[in-house]
Amino acid sequence: MQHLFRGIELVRSDLSKEGQSGVRGRSSDGNECADQLAKEAITKGYPFLLRKPLSYLKAEIKSAALSIWQDNWDNGETGRSTHDIVLRVSNKPVGWNREEIMFVTGHGPFPSYLLRFHLRTHDNCSCGGKGDPIHYATKCPFTLSWHFQTPTVLLKLQWLKNILTNNFSRTRLRLLMRFICDENNLIVEDNN
Ligand SMILES: [Zn+2]
Repeated sequence: MQHLFRGIELVRSDLSKEGQSGVRGRSSDGNECADQLAKEAITKGYPFLLRKPLSYLKAEIKSAALSIWQDNWDNGETGRSTHDIVLRVSNKPVGWNREEIMFVTGHGPFPSYLLRFHLRTHDNCSCGGKGDPIHYATKCPFTLSWHFQTPTVLLKLQWLKNILTNNFSRTRLRLLMRFICDENNLIVEDNN
């Protein structure tokens, strides 16, 4: 029995040696072949088609879609007041709350907005001034408690950006807009 085991060990040992030398031999041939191909690739430079990963295709489509969206946003006719503040389109939300969106877009219970959609016959506030968002934020006697300093025409955009980036101003703007919503009958009196 021991002779038999010894015999198996010897055979294993021989096979292992052959295997190692065989691998070394093929490896050497492979290296030479690779070197040769590399030289040819450099000197001859055959063109070839390399398939790109799906992630690359998705990124390309997203980039193209954003580009079209940006073009439409820049050259559109609606949402211009928002365009002044948000120049670049993005899939990420701007982080404005409901009241801030109403103020920036002008889409709220303002006489100026209601007239646009023929829900009022004029855009006057009950106080007599033009009832647009900036009137309520700076001039209207009904909203005196939440007034901001009146901006110059040239600095209006910066004025709005300052409000939206300052927490104290944002709170005040939110309270102003809630008052306009709650007391809408007071400020949007239809004289006709
Ligand atoms: Zn007013």
